[in-house]
Amino acid sequence: MECQDPKCPIHGNVKTHGYEIEGVVVSDKAQKTAIVEHAYTTFLGKYERSLRKTSRIAAYNPDCIKARAGDRVVIVGTRRLSKTKSFAVTKVIKRGE
Ligand SMILES: [Zn+2]
Repeated sequence: MECQDPKCPIHGNVKTHGYEIEGVVVSDKAQKTAIVEHAYTTFLGKYERSLRKTSRIAAYNPDCIKARAGDRVVIVGTRRLSKTKSFAVTKVIKRGE
């Protein structure tokens, strides 16, 4: 079946830009949306320690990818697709259970 989604980052007419972020899908409840959590470290100069932080990004989840909760995915920046989405899922690295 051909993908007809105009907002699909692979088959549609949405350009991607910026770097890729790897993360884990924590929610796939909203339509065509995946909430992707990714962990990163930053350095806090005052205490000379690095911290682990997580952030959650809402990403467009087209039907041809269909990422589900628990999947490890790659997201990439796009134009703003809705109020909260300016990223799109481009591939699934590893399917969760
Ligand atoms: Zn597609």
